[in-house]
Amino acid sequence: MSDDFQTMTEQQEDDIINAAFQGMLDTYLASKHRKKVEIITRAFNFAKQAHKGVRRRSGEPYIMHPIAVARIVSEEIGLGSTSICAALLHDVVEDTDYTTEDIRNLFGDKIAQIVEGLTKIAGAIFGDQASAQAENFKKLLLTMSEDIRVILIKIADRLHNMRTLSSMAVNKQYKIAGETLYIYAPIAYRLGLNKIKSELEDLSFRYEHPEEYEKLKERLAVSQSKRDLLYAEFTAPIREMLDKMGYSYKLIGRIKSPYSIWKKMQTKHLSFDEIYDIMAVRIIFEPKEFEKEVNECFDIYVALSKLYKVHPDRTRDWVNQPKTNGYQALHVTLMSKHGEWVEVQIRSHRMDDIAEQGVAAHWKYKAAENANLQSGGKALSVPEEEDADIDHWLRTIKEILDDPQPDAMDFLDAIKLNLYASEIFVFTPKGEIKTMPQNSTALDFAFSIHTMLGTHCMGAKVNHKLVPINYQLQSGDQVEILTSRTQHVSPDWLNIVTTAKARSKIQAAIRREQRAAQKEGEQLFNAFVEKEGLNATSVDIDRVSRLHNFENKEQLFQAIGQKTVVLGDSDKNVLRGNGNGTGLAGLFKRKPKTVAKASEDEKSSSTTTIDKRKPLLLTEELVGSRYHLAPCCNPIAGDDVLGYIDSDNRITIHKRNCPTAAKLKAGFGNRILAATWSMKKAVFFTATIMLKGIDSVGVMSKIANIISQQLNVNMERIVIEAHEGIFEGTIRLHVHDVDDVRTICSDLRKLKDITSVVRTE
Ligand code: MN
Repeated sequence: MSDDFQTMTEQQEDDIINAAFQGMLDTYLASKHRKKVEIITRAFNFAKQAHKGVRRRSGEPYIMHPIAVARIVSEEIGLGSTSICAALLHDVVEDTDYTTEDIRNLFGDKIAQIVEGLTKIAGAIFGDQASAQAENFKKLLLTMSEDIRVILIKIADRLHNMRTLSSMAVNKQYKIAGETLYIYAPIAYRLGLNKIKSELEDLSFRYEHPEEYEKLKERLAVSQSKRDLLYAEFTAPIREMLDKMGYSYKLIGRIKSPYSIWKKMQTKHLSFDEIYDIMAVRIIFEPKEFEKEVNECFDIYVALSKLYKVHPDRTRDWVNQPKTNGYQALHVTLMSKHGEWVEVQIRSHRMDDIAEQGVAAHWKYKAAENANLQSGGKALSVPEEEDADIDHWLRTIKEILDDPQPDAMDFLDAIKLNLYASEIFVFTPKGEIKTMPQNSTALDFAFSIHTMLGTHCMGAKVNHKLVPINYQLQSGDQVEILTSRTQHVSPDWLNIVTTAKARSKIQAAIRREQRAAQKEGEQLFNAFVEKEGLNATSVDIDRVSRLHNFENKEQLFQAIGQKTVVLGDSDKNVLRGNGNGTGLAGLFKRKPKTVAKASEDEKSSSTTTIDKRKPLLLTEELVGSRYHLAPCCNPIAGDDVLGYIDSDNRITIHKRNCPTAAKLKAGFGNRILAATWSMKKAVFFTATIMLKGIDSVGVMSKIANIISQQLNVNMERIVIEAHEGIFEGTIRLHVHDVDDVRTICSDLRKLKDITSVVRTE
């Protein structure tokens, strides 16, 4: 690509730019929007001259990027001229000398406001102040609530950057891919942009785990003919039935994305062959009567149930109860003639558009309705058409933002949880229906109704039965919260709740109580000192803190206030200077964290500068001394890994799919380094594998035999449990690299009685 542009004449280059713009404009002209070509063309010409002479890393003229973003906005999200103009102009204020004022004068208030919102986010998310990330994320969300088009264009921008990520430096690739997975994919999902969400996830996956991605794609390709056959056999009677019913329809075989397959394999410890829902069948039909589309979904369902056996627990009615991102469909799982379960998704054309394009499609249909009502049609006015569900979601986020959080990363976590959770429906005692994230507890529900109900919650009645506060709510539960005046918030509650709102309310209450305890503790301490006729300088107080193994006086005072520490004779001794702060207690002082033995070496090496563009080479000499393996994910040679460099210039190696690494990537992207292994099978790592199988006589000794005799691998620990003829076990092994683990797993899989073998760590 870059070569092409280098050898081109200016005229040739201009032709390519104009053709790209025309292609974008064609998608707009094919849409239902009003044809405001003049202002779009003006925005294009303005952006083109503003970015003139600037090139992207790939070598192409910069303007190709805003054109591509505008095309996504028009073609894939379905937005109109205002958004297209803003997309064309989105990098002008950020990257050139033009200001928002210039945009306002030339293109009016609305477009200027959106460009301004986009410029703010650009500074925030890509900025160098890593710890400010979560703050910026808040800003991003707040901006979004003013005009949701800001976030939609931002997602389009990110999608194009992800599609062209290969031309970026490798360490930047990780940072961008990590951010995408952590921040943008969940927002896209939340806004119902399901297709874009999947693409963002797949692209992130491809850059973070290139080998796994390729392997999965290959396996999918190899097994395709089998699925084609199943699809043809399975759908033939369905087509016949739909024809007979007189529907015009489309049947699609939907293949699960590589990322979703990989994620399922990871979280459920399954092998590729154990994933049964790789294919689903989608029925997209034109309703005979628009108002009866819901009934018609069920008509089709009933007809299907006469063709195939329905799985009793896997029917999902998202038709009457749409997900909060607007998704509507009827899901049913049927058994094929050969005994495989196949999911069938029944949706009308309108429902399908919403599933693919999310909020934007909502507006499309509402705008179409309006146009029908008011002859002559009406311009698409997005904010007024906002969906009630989206409104509700934005309100929740605003509530959390209103309650300031000291720990910004926690905030991000809380939001992330909420973005990904799917919903359940529960009822209040009065029969009001409430949407809660899956895995919500009774306590979450209490906080969702009112903070007072939450802080004094002592239990609940679910379906008229008494349950504890940690009861996990199920869809359809009727919940009545029971309170007591004497009940108050405890830190344990943070382990009980799953919603961001409850979590932030509990944290606020705990902080309030801690501050009160601290204050009381300080008073008790001063009274003690006075009563004993002593004098306590800040050095003395630090000594007393150390005596009780606290790091600072705040912790000491809090403990005194909470009566977990009672001052006594030993404190008197310390305050009189007799104990001089050492003695036994001094031995228990927390040691500073040093990972390797040679701290001097580290200091001298910390002066060496690190070239972030080059991947770290993980060799025998450096691993363990210069680079530390993260204990959270235990990477071994051959794993996809990355390096994280902390403020002391210490480098930790994490697996790329480690949750801690994900946080670091989102929060401290500039400190992420690419890393590759260069080991000569000279050192050992520990790896853990998990096995499942049938508990037959001698299976244990067969396993042990394969590992220690045939493969000559040392086992560090082996734990096997058997229940009703099934066994499950974990084995910790000493291996050189992932290849060793693979060999072991595949050899063990050959045993007749073993049903699955996976590496867990
Ligand atoms: Mn951009």
